[in-house]
Amino acid sequence: TQFTDLGLSQPVLQALDLKGYDTPTPIQAQAIPPVLEGRDLLGIAQTGTGKTAAFMLPSIDNLREADNQTPFKSCRMLVLAPTRELAGQIAENAKEYGALAGLKVHSIVGGTSVNKDRNKLHRGTDILVATPGRLLDLIDQKAFRLDGVEILVLDEADQMLDLGFIHALRKISQLVPDERQTLFFSATMPTAIKELVGKYCRNPVTVSV
Ligand code: AMP
Repeated sequence: TQFTDLGLSQPVLQALDLKGYDTPTPIQAQAIPPVLEGRDLLGIAQTGTGKTAAFMLPSIDNLREADNQTPFKSCRMLVLAPTRELAGQIAENAKEYGALAGLKVHSIVGGTSVNKDRNKLHRGTDILVATPGRLLDLIDQKAFRLDGVEILVLDEADQMLDLGFIHALRKISQLVPDERQTLFFSATMPTAIKELVGKYCRNPVTVSV
């Protein structure tokens, strides 16, 4: 399988070309077509498998296709990640892939100035990468809301639970629109994760690598 076989748009294929990727990894080959079709996804995968591109590339095309405006004080795609480091890496990837599609990318994580976050999110963004705690702080302060979310990604969900984000994740699940696409990634599938998948996903395609 080549990236050109998966149904991705020219701008995304060009971004891949710039990065020098030619062959999709197994999770990319299996996940990209159903995500492009709008299906929910449960990806059971470790870091290093190429899962970031597996959710980012088709989502960028879905955002391009829907072509909605950047929502005020909200975002079109929300990616939740357990740590600052991972959130930073995902945001960097999103910038590389999303630039050619003209999508705005921001990240917000704990341990930095909340005021700066408030300012940068005021006009909204297309893709937001966030850790759950800081995101809820901004929502509680009425500086951000989740009503614009078309695509929701939970990355390393098992890590988020281990770090004590269960309450934050339950709350976030109540604030996002029902009509949305959810892409859920976890390296392991304990009972608590299965319950969370049930709360977040609708008839997901499961890909395990
Ligand atoms: P991830 O699992 O998303 O953290 O990705 C692991 C590493 O693989 C990252 O350094 C990516 O830049 C790289 N990578 C992802 N997809 C591909 C691909 N199709 N070809 C080559 N490298 C890739």
